[in-house]
Amino acid sequence: MLIVMDKDATASQIDAVVAKIETLGFVAQPMPGGERVAIGILRNPGPVDPALFVDMPGVIQAIPVSRPYKLVSREMKREDTIIHLPDLDLGRGRFVIMAGPCAVESESQALTIAEKVKAFGARIFRGGAYKPRTSPYSYQGLGKTGLKILKKVREETGLLIVTEAMDQDSLKLVAEFADIIQIGARNMQNFSLLRCAGRTGKPILLKRGMYATLEEWLMAAEYILAEGNPQVILCERGVRGIGEHSRNLLDLATIPAVRRESHLPIVVDPSHAAGRRDLVPPLARAAVAAGCDGLLIEVHHEPEKALSDGAQSLYPEQFAALMREIESLRPGGWS
Ligand code: PEP
Ligand code: MN
Repeated sequence: MLIVMDKDATASQIDAVVAKIETLGFVAQPMPGGERVAIGILRNPGPVDPALFVDMPGVIQAIPVSRPYKLVSREMKREDTIIHLPDLDLGRGRFVIMAGPCAVESESQALTIAEKVKAFGARIFRGGAYKPRTSPYSYQGLGKTGLKILKKVREETGLLIVTEAMDQDSLKLVAEFADIIQIGARNMQNFSLLRCAGRTGKPILLKRGMYATLEEWLMAAEYILAEGNPQVILCERGVRGIGEHSRNLLDLATIPAVRRESHLPIVVDPSHAAGRRDLVPPLARAAVAAGCDGLLIEVHHEPEKALSDGAQSLYPEQFAALMREIESLRPGGWS
């Protein structure tokens, strides 16, 4: 249930509603909006009677929330969420490009790629220091050394950093170094990691699990919001398909479906969906046309030597060409 307060409601009227919710044994989550405050009721095991609240001073409406995900749902918050990053907003029409190699391999590799993606329009550098690899014998990432390299990239280029935390140990370090913490597809339902990520207070990029339904994905986001962290960016990266022509099946229908169900921004990663670089630009253009809030693209200056995901990494010139195409799809460009 969502209790909507009058736009002139006083602080003590809001406090009284919060106190009543707590007396009933539930959790109150005040959500200041542009005009008025709304208070979400959480952890109620069954329906709550609206009559308990509608006559309280300052209350104008009590709206039942029908969806299993509460804080994430449009019913709870009508206007789109904006992710506030240092000098950069994402969401509600603010379109952002994140780009970089799959993995940070060395300082010179990261800096070379960062300079290039910056020159062509990226504002956020994406590179993994901790890599979730199918094989334990594949390159696992540089760990803390990789994070220090990312710090240097940030200092030297001004690009913000998104990088993955694979477990609770790496999360602590990643939270110190990153502007956005990525939770990968394989960890989308690692509920204890989601809770800890929520508690960092940092923006979280939550990739869709490779078999996750929309509801499961939004419930995973709910774990983060339930920890008091509303800064979640959803990332569609494709689900397991039947074709051998692409690594995954990019599900563009999630863009309008997420918009309908949730106020959270959604970005698209065509690289992990495609698995091969020739498929990346058309999928990226389609994602933009479908209305996503940003793209996450793997780029490598020497993809044939890349230690991970080289086949799907664009050459810098291909990335530049894609950025020009996207500019024509989005008159006004992007942040
Ligand atoms: C990645 O971003 O490099 C990655 C491993 O992605 P995903 O979790 O989507 O497979
Ligand atoms: Mn990758």
